[in-house]
Amino acid sequence: MIIEPRTRGFICLTSHPIGCAQNVKNQIEYVTSKGKIDGAKKVLVIGSSTGFGLASRITSAFGSDAATIGVFFDKPASPNRPASPGFYNTAAFEQEAHKAGLYAKSINGDAFSNEIKEQVVNLIKEDLGQIDLIIYSLASPVRTHPNTGERFKSVLKPIGEVFTNKTVDFHTGEVSEISINPAEGDDIENTVTVMGGEDWKMWMDALKEANVLADGVQTVAYSYIGPEVTKPVYRNGTIGAAKDDLEAKAFIIANDLKALNGNAYVSVNKALVTQASSAIPVIPLYISLLYKTMKEEGVHEGCIEQIQRLYSQRLFGGDLSLDSKGRIRIDDLEMREDIQTKVVQLWESATTENLASIGDLEGYSTDFYNLFGFKVPGVDYDQEVDEMVSVPSIQE
Ligand code: NAD
Repeated sequence: MIIEPRTRGFICLTSHPIGCAQNVKNQIEYVTSKGKIDGAKKVLVIGSSTGFGLASRITSAFGSDAATIGVFFDKPASPNRPASPGFYNTAAFEQEAHKAGLYAKSINGDAFSNEIKEQVVNLIKEDLGQIDLIIYSLASPVRTHPNTGERFKSVLKPIGEVFTNKTVDFHTGEVSEISINPAEGDDIENTVTVMGGEDWKMWMDALKEANVLADGVQTVAYSYIGPEVTKPVYRNGTIGAAKDDLEAKAFIIANDLKALNGNAYVSVNKALVTQASSAIPVIPLYISLLYKTMKEEGVHEGCIEQIQRLYSQRLFGGDLSLDSKGRIRIDDLEMREDIQTKVVQLWESATTENLASIGDLEGYSTDFYNLFGFKVPGVDYDQEVDEMVSVPSIQE
């Protein structure tokens, strides 16, 4: 079929297998060009199919020749209906990994469930024995609790008072004011249940209990802080409460891993266009101004550059440079004072009329389409493509 983008708000309903495969190849090429990283050799990535998780899997495999197991939740294709991009990304990743002689198997299912944890434990036992790095990179709006069956929804709301600020519709470039009502009822607790650290801890408990963690094992989960302008809706909002919980769990998990000489960290990453971040109001405007500023300063990075640097300089580079709260800060360039000062200035003056010139709206939009395999250089979108791509290790 010929596949074109069909967007609805901040999601795209279609995705392109060749474009997704090209994105994966480009990321592999980047990691390969940066040389080998003396890192973990048997790696589990939870949330491995897009964004930071995919970049982590690629960096482990092609930077450190690691065997990888990836867990994700994506839709396979059906006739005339393309798969979700994470599925195509994973298919391409596995093909490239196998070509390079690397072990790569994937499990498509709900990582929050006990069943998927059990499947992963069994796979590790059968194929790898033990693992030495676990990346936790889930971003989900919902979680069914494995013990109670209750379904929780996360919300993106400020806490305490209404938040009013600018936002942009990145499809039209229209800058408008948005007001978001504060959390009410169980909003905060529910968001913490979905995006906090409970599931990360459950994963680590299950892996430890099954004796599949190697001596010196490390685990890393991803967090975000961001600037003052997004603070009420992000870091001081419901999602920030979840990130506080995730960060607190890192210390508990680190303590649990002491007997194995292991450790647990949170890495605070940079704001980037991913499926998760495009859903957050205000963030797209911030990202378009940030991109413009960081590109002008020559310090812009995408997911793969961020994770390659996280691995090569921090995690396996001997210099974790933890902040006062014990977190790895790979958002250091985003948070540089000169960058933030510039973004705040631009923020104040941003309007529908000037955003295309003072912000990188085009970069935002291109990155958004790229997530779904569209507008990827070198791909001929007029060509018929086979949408029925399968992931080699998954029998659907
Ligand atoms: P993403 O949407 O690109 O990736 C999410 C991954 O989780 C996908 O592989 C998806 O398949 C998987 N997933 C979702 N629900 C699942 C489930 N129930 N079971 C199994 N897999 C599931 O998101 P991302 O932006 O890469 O975010 C990953 C982490 O990085 C999040 O914790 C996020 O808060 C953090 N982070 C993101 C940004 C950003 O700007 N995007 C910045 C800093 C930190």
